[in-house]
Amino acid sequence: MAIADKMTAAMQSSSWIRRMFEEGAELKARLGADKIYDFTLGNPDLEPPDALKAALLEVVQDSRPGRHAYMSNAGFLETRQVLAAHLSREHPLSFSPDDIIMTCGAAGALNVILKALLNPGEEVIILAPFFPEYIFYIDNHGGTPRVVETDALFQLDLNRLEEAINTQTRAVIINSPNNPTGQIYEAARLNALGELLTAHSKKHGRPIYLINDEPYRRLTYDGISVPSIFQAYPNSLVATSFSKDLSLPGERIGYLAVSPQAQGRQELLAGLILANRILGYVNAPALMQRLVAKMAVVTVDLTPYVRRRELFCQILADAGYDLVKPQGAFYLFPRSPLTDDIAFVAELKKENILAVPGRGFGRGGYFRLAFCTPESVISAAAAGFARARARVAQ
Ligand code: PLP
Repeated sequence: MAIADKMTAAMQSSSWIRRMFEEGAELKARLGADKIYDFTLGNPDLEPPDALKAALLEVVQDSRPGRHAYMSNAGFLETRQVLAAHLSREHPLSFSPDDIIMTCGAAGALNVILKALLNPGEEVIILAPFFPEYIFYIDNHGGTPRVVETDALFQLDLNRLEEAINTQTRAVIINSPNNPTGQIYEAARLNALGELLTAHSKKHGRPIYLINDEPYRRLTYDGISVPSIFQAYPNSLVATSFSKDLSLPGERIGYLAVSPQAQGRQELLAGLILANRILGYVNAPALMQRLVAKMAVVTVDLTPYVRRRELFCQILADAGYDLVKPQGAFYLFPRSPLTDDIAFVAELKKENILAVPGRGFGRGGYFRLAFCTPESVISAAAAGFARARARVAQ
């Protein structure tokens, strides 16, 4: 065996998203890319804003010495100062640069946090439906995922959450706006979760940390904003990135922020900085850190996503699909007309439509559609969605 048994198992259970992507690539090669309606990947198709290109040129042309050297493992102070000011405006708390660590995307931030927090076998609660990589990230650091279902509208279910908390619970990861549902966890329940975690932390004599994975924070619709977890609970951390709101996923730039009110804040920050170093990231990319310092308040133009969301929801509603309209991100998570979501995704494939079964996100009976695709592709797929729906209704 060339690789560890654990890796073999991981490869076998590895993500449906990738599996569908590969099947899609085969179909595209066979039939031509323009014949395939691919809604599998959350890879933003909008180009970064023009302002970003101008800022990047400025950063590249800065020829002062040391621009490409290692820096503090937490990242450049100037970048963290800008982000601290930004967070202090967005949340009802005052952040200092010390509360922020620059990371290789939100994925890097999550791995750094889990590395710093977990003892072997400790549990991390995740909420279904969830971003499938959480299972791997938790396992990377010796933890055990404990899956808790959300309710029928994909909102927090506090009773189930309370039932899942035990002496081994170390952290809860939430993801709002959510991939795959597009839902934003509402403030009242988030505050109630904060109270629940405060009570259980006290009971167990150590903090249970709440982590919001929020790379979609600035991709919201209908004027909805994302409630602050820092307001809801003091022992909170945010993992985020510029992958989605600046369309920069390939550049691997993000950050984590620790609540200034977190218990054990100093020790936690020191552990996080060490984790960033020893996980092999060392530091987030220097060029990108300088770039995002200039772009903290900029996002891609959301108009195309707004239009696609309306169009796609209308097409699915007209075809008789049952769907909770997303409040943010760029995903739809309709109910599968067949209980077996894998079978229904296969029906869609007969129409050259590629979707991801809900089972890949820990919630069977649904499927995910990413609208990182032009409106023309969404419109062209309408008839196929209707035919697949009609076929299984018979
Ligand atoms: N978290 C969620 C919910 C995501 O959907 C993704 C990417 O799709 C990530 C984290 C990883 O983002 P990044 O590219 O910033 O590492």
